[in-house]
Amino acid sequence: MAESAATQEFDVLILGGGSAGYSVALRAVQLGFSVGLIERDKVGGTCLHTGCIPTKAYLHAAELAENAREGAKYGIHTSLESIDLAGVRSYKDGIVAGKHKGLSGLLKMKKITVINGNGRLVGQDTIDVDGVAYKGKNIVLATGSTSKTFGLEIGGRVLTSTEALNMETLPKSAIVLGGGVIGVEFASVWNSFGVDVTIVEGLPSLVPNEDPAIIKNLERAFKKRGIKFNTGVFFEKVEQDANGVKVHLADGKTLEADVVLVAVGRGPVTENMGFEEQGITIDRGFVITDERLHTGVGNIYAVGDIVPGVQLAHRGYQHGIFVAEEIAGQKPTIVEDINIPKVTFCEPEIASVGYSEPKAKEKFGEDQIETTEYNLAGNGKSSILGTSGLIKMVRVKNGPIVGVHGIGGRIGEQIGEAQLIVNWEAYPEDVAQLIHAHPTQNESLGEAALALAGKPLHG
Ligand SMILES: Cc1cc2nc3c(=O)[nH]c(=O)nc-3n(C[C@H](O)[C@H](O)[C@H](O)COP(=O)(O)OP(=O)(O)OC[C@H]3O[C@@H](n4cnc5c(N)ncnc54)[C@H](O)[C@@H]3O)c2cc1C
Repeated sequence: MAESAATQEFDVLILGGGSAGYSVALRAVQLGFSVGLIERDKVGGTCLHTGCIPTKAYLHAAELAENAREGAKYGIHTSLESIDLAGVRSYKDGIVAGKHKGLSGLLKMKKITVINGNGRLVGQDTIDVDGVAYKGKNIVLATGSTSKTFGLEIGGRVLTSTEALNMETLPKSAIVLGGGVIGVEFASVWNSFGVDVTIVEGLPSLVPNEDPAIIKNLERAFKKRGIKFNTGVFFEKVEQDANGVKVHLADGKTLEADVVLVAVGRGPVTENMGFEEQGITIDRGFVITDERLHTGVGNIYAVGDIVPGVQLAHRGYQHGIFVAEEIAGQKPTIVEDINIPKVTFCEPEIASVGYSEPKAKEKFGEDQIETTEYNLAGNGKSSILGTSGLIKMVRVKNGPIVGVHGIGGRIGEQIGEAQLIVNWEAYPEDVAQLIHAHPTQNESLGEAALALAGKPLHG
């Protein structure tokens, strides 16, 4: 490719304008760098357009549907008349469009040059965008992820989360392949909307990365809600025709439904982008970096979902800020993946950060761990909200709290304090002396810390 004399050069040139890419851009301009941000679709990426934001809009609509159904429990006589999926979609689209406008305006205001087009790394300091070369003194790869399909052809009644968010009508029944975060969130929404849902998960439980106490509680809650699940079994084949889908399982069972959602994880988007040709190490599609997110080639970094680890938008933001500061020579602190807060927004919600009990035992020694479980039945605000659940805290004996795990309606909001506790390596004794306002669900963290400090108040 011929380079024109007018090739534009930036201090920081970013490939991909999702959560990770645009946060590099925002922090880099703050630090005084000139920034080019290449995006072939819409800035905001998966999280804004087909991930976090639209799914949470659906989950909020689902909560309203449940409230309408259950009003009488609180002396408010309501009933759920119907779900207008077009109406839910347009509410969701309005939120996404508003956030997209806001983000585009912010990037413009900060004088970040957004380059629309498909980028390909063609040199250690050069990205070709649809035939035009752009140079970066530093390059950041942030091309994100897409749904894995395990060879299934997507179309018709076989959907990924992206198609599921844009359905015209509600199915009567759905099979969800995958009991991880995306799978249980969709199962939760559809169940609230009156869809008959069955989950298939190859591993022995739903949300297999969570603490066993959380898993048990979620499975019990899902059963109570009428969400069916087959765990410890893989699917073998999916067939569709005009009448529906059939999913054949390895145990010989066949499930039938109107649609099937393929939610079996997300893979990196790195194919045919020239990364390997420039000497970057790729493993199963992921870009391999050192712990400071450097690829080991030139001044090229990678951030977000293309770097192996938990695929979450806020990890992408943190990666973005980290790399911009690293380029500026500020030597930012590394946050280990284990200490990244995670929320699964199904009903009941799950919030967790740090080590689960089994992982803590593996890391610190079987007899070095103490745990406590505080049942939300003892928490006034949870009873008012009509939710059950628990907070589990994991500490190292005579040491800090290394894991906080919660389940219950709205418990996601408690992740803020939980992640401070774990990341600041607080001792239960430190947290126990702090005051948690009454009546809030936040008190459950205080109660758990009091119990771990050996002086439980209401337990
Ligand atoms: C259904 C769903 C729900 C989710 N819910 C949550 C949640 O509640 N909380 C949470 O934290 N995370 C959630 N996630 C995960 C979150 O969306 C991702 O972790 C996050 O978007 C990753 O950011 P990223 O910048 O690495 O990649 P992406 O957001 O995927 O952005 C990559 C960008 O790069 C662009 N791009 C790719 N290749 C090129 C190229 N060659 N040239 C130009 N542009 C290119 C793409 O168009 C895209 O805009 C969810 C994901 C899904 C699918």
